[in-house]
Amino acid sequence: MYKKIAPNPTLSWRPSLLLAMTFVWHAAMLLVLVAFPSAWAWVLIALLINHLVLTAVGLWPRSTWLGPNWTRLPSGSATRGEIALTIDDGPHPEVTPQVLELLDRYRVKASFFCVGDAAGRYPDLCRSIVERGHAIENHTQHHSHYFSFLGPAGLAREIQAAQDTLIAITGCTPVFFRAPAGLRNPFLDPVLAKLGLRLATWTRRGFDTRTSDPVIVSRRLIRGLRAGSILLLHDGNSARSSSGVPVIVTVLPQLFEAAAAAGLHFVTLNQVADNEKR
Ligand SMILES: [Zn+2]
Repeated sequence: MYKKIAPNPTLSWRPSLLLAMTFVWHAAMLLVLVAFPSAWAWVLIALLINHLVLTAVGLWPRSTWLGPNWTRLPSGSATRGEIALTIDDGPHPEVTPQVLELLDRYRVKASFFCVGDAAGRYPDLCRSIVERGHAIENHTQHHSHYFSFLGPAGLAREIQAAQDTLIAITGCTPVFFRAPAGLRNPFLDPVLAKLGLRLATWTRRGFDTRTSDPVIVSRRLIRGLRAGSILLLHDGNSARSSSGVPVIVTVLPQLFEAAAAAGLHFVTLNQVADNEKR
């Protein structure tokens, strides 16, 4: 049975080195502007370059330049031969039940990054995920493609709404967050800290919303698979093979067999976070 997790104590936020440098850069440019008003065009260009760098970093999901980001499991977990399977964009009425059956059959526990909207439409599936011992995490309320354009208030609304939806349905508090497509901006990190959520991306992803060939998706995940990896597949938005089977359904048994052959075993992200606190 899934252990209920108490609301996360507020994580403290400290600006990353890149953000701290950005603040200093803005202050320096202000001084230049005061001292040499005629240099305003150069100041503008300098600030534009700064913001282009921030935007580019936000479009790089595995970057840690905007704040902490789990791109792989902590070293202690890797030493124990652990890996994590994360499944995004669900729950989905057709795909999620098949995924849950496979997870049961191979005795694997996974972290489901659910979309609040979908969770509200299929609450029984969310409860089923939790009852079978998996973790539910936060993947925004609406999975908007414009998520990374939102300001602090918009980001907080999206994430808090999903948090409220998932807690109301399952009674469990998500402790990890993943942005749609992993895209974010510099406002996200302080919002997550305030809500007690950790950002998680991945070590390897199957691109299984776009690639309909399960052989290619399996290869992306299995090649070079090693302890500490965080893997990403999708139950919502899953591509279908030529025979109409969701890609994840074909890929999972191959992945589980490869992991077992390599002596690796699956854990949920919140189990690892819990161990880290001890
Ligand atoms: Zn997604």
